Amino acid sequence: MALIVHKYGGTSMGSAERIRNVSERVAKWHAAGHQMVVVPSAMAGETNRLIALAKEIEPDPDSRELDMISATGEQVSVGLLALALKARDVPAVSYAGWQVPVRTDSSFGKARILSIDAERVHADLAAGRVVIVTGFQGVDPDGHVTTLGRGGSDTSAVAVAAALKADECLIYTDVDGVYTTDPRIVPEARRMEKITFEEMLEMASLGSKVLQIRSVEFAGKYKVKTRVLSSLTPPDIDLALEAASGTLITFEEDETMEKAVISGIAFNRDEAKITLMRVPDRPGVAFQILGPVADANIDVDMIIQNQSVDGMTDFSFTVHRNEYQKALGVLEAQVRSSIGGGEIVGDPKICKVSAVGIGMRSHVGIASLMFRTLSEEGINIQMISTSEIKISVVIEDKYMELAVRALHKAFGLEHRSGATESVAGV
Ligand code: ADP
Ligand code: ASP
Ligand code: MG
Repeated sequence: MALIVHKYGGTSMGSAERIRNVSERVAKWHAAGHQMVVVPSAMAGETNRLIALAKEIEPDPDSRELDMISATGEQVSVGLLALALKARDVPAVSYAGWQVPVRTDSSFGKARILSIDAERVHADLAAGRVVIVTGFQGVDPDGHVTTLGRGGSDTSAVAVAAALKADECLIYTDVDGVYTTDPRIVPEARRMEKITFEEMLEMASLGSKVLQIRSVEFAGKYKVKTRVLSSLTPPDIDLALEAASGTLITFEEDETMEKAVISGIAFNRDEAKITLMRVPDRPGVAFQILGPVADANIDVDMIIQNQSVDGMTDFSFTVHRNEYQKALGVLEAQVRSSIGGGEIVGDPKICKVSAVGIGMRSHVGIASLMFRTLSEEGINIQMISTSEIKISVVIEDKYMELAVRALHKAFGLEHRSGATESVAGV
């Protein structure tokens, strides 16, 4: 007997029929003798609907009230799933985040989980009940409902698994695992049997929305055995077969891992670029520009400074698109006058495309293959950033799909053994 956490995303919970399927699958695991905790998302489209409704009333809604509204989607889901389980004579109980409680900080809309009380859930499990806990939401120290940011149910599930010391956390979604890139963009993308935690962390942080980045961080911190798999298989398939399907996140490389240099291509359309033209090239200028931006609580991702000509240079950086206007405002109001310089130019029509792989550590030539591939497609690279296991480029967003497809092909990701072969010569 094991303690298992299942997470079901919006599509998996998308209709009464799908919820019945989820209940059938959970009942199967329960009947096999496992203690079961289930963390569902809101039904597909529901969170978007709730946020749009709030914005109909007030275009710039108060963040506390917005969380109060957007958290309700998950509350409906847990109740419906409990009903579906009970209809199968499976004892079940549903809880909202505050009832567990899932304690978070007070950053409405992007709250961080601080702790989860395991006592109540353990008591229900000991009594043989399936426990259903809302994804995406928690409660702050003052009792206010908070939400964890879009895609946050993944994080709820892995955090619940960590708090309960679960044997495994299974993330059921509308694809059958983690692919070399989003299979909706590249149909030839290939599912990985396993992915290292480090690679998954990079893929998630660089835009692969199959897992929210914080869920991967939790999995790493608490060594939660986490697997991504399909909720769309028949719910009555053999349990052992299901348990071994999908993609497992591993904490150590082993000899059964595929020896790919690049394991995946990630992309992100959520950023915008800002350039300050002809700023003086002297000590302290980067701080003068980015200090006020940081003070305004705006995260900066990539930064680039050109070589100076006549003591003047261009300085560019990227921010999340949601914070683009705010960042421009800060620069106009606080920076331009203090450092002088020319125009401030903004460009929201960019995207970031990244190649990720731990094999990069021991291979040279990955960057040159990436740059050659983009140049052969006539795609101009605006910014570059690298780490030990990733290379990211900023390009014009209209080229995103072309770039992702070309890089996926160039790195041989669609063939089982191609990844090693295709970059062997570089
Ligand atoms: P859920 O509602 O189950 O949380 P999401 O829509 O948040 O599902 O995440 C699953 C989606 O992530 C897939 O439908 C797929 O389009 C997208 N995706 C992006 N990158 C990848 C990848 N590398 N592997 C698999 N899916 C990916
Ligand atoms: N329902 C939330 C969202 O749409 C959380 C999630 O699906 O993970 O973002
Ligand atoms: Mg998701």
